Amino acid sequence: MDERCTHLDQIRKVTPSARGCEDCLRTGSRWLHLRLCRSCGHVGCCDDSPNRHATAHYHATGHPIIEGYDPPEGWGYCYVDETFVDLSSWATPQVGPIPHFY
Ligand SMILES: [Zn+2]
Ligand SMILES: [Zn+2]
Ligand SMILES: [Zn+2]
Repeated sequence: MDERCTHLDQIRKVTPSARGCEDCLRTGSRWLHLRLCRSCGHVGCCDDSPNRHATAHYHATGHPIIEGYDPPEGWGYCYVDETFVDLSSWATPQVGPIPHFY
């Protein structure tokens, strides 16, 4: 674990809110990669996606830690400390096939 992140105690076992970025699915937008919020289970899209919903979710809620999620890759990222965290033993299983647009 990376000690530079002080939010590791906020990582929860979550249920993903959707199979893809829930905001993009609602609006019919596309995404590149998915990010799962480890505070509440919100599924958003990465900063290389046009709408950057995961970062928008962080700004809206302050939830610090997201997990790389397409598929679960065993790493996370803390927006507050701008550092990667090791989630290899904490990865969240997929609920089903992720709809891919790219
Ligand atoms: Zn942190
Ligand atoms: Zn999105
Ligand atoms: Zn959240």
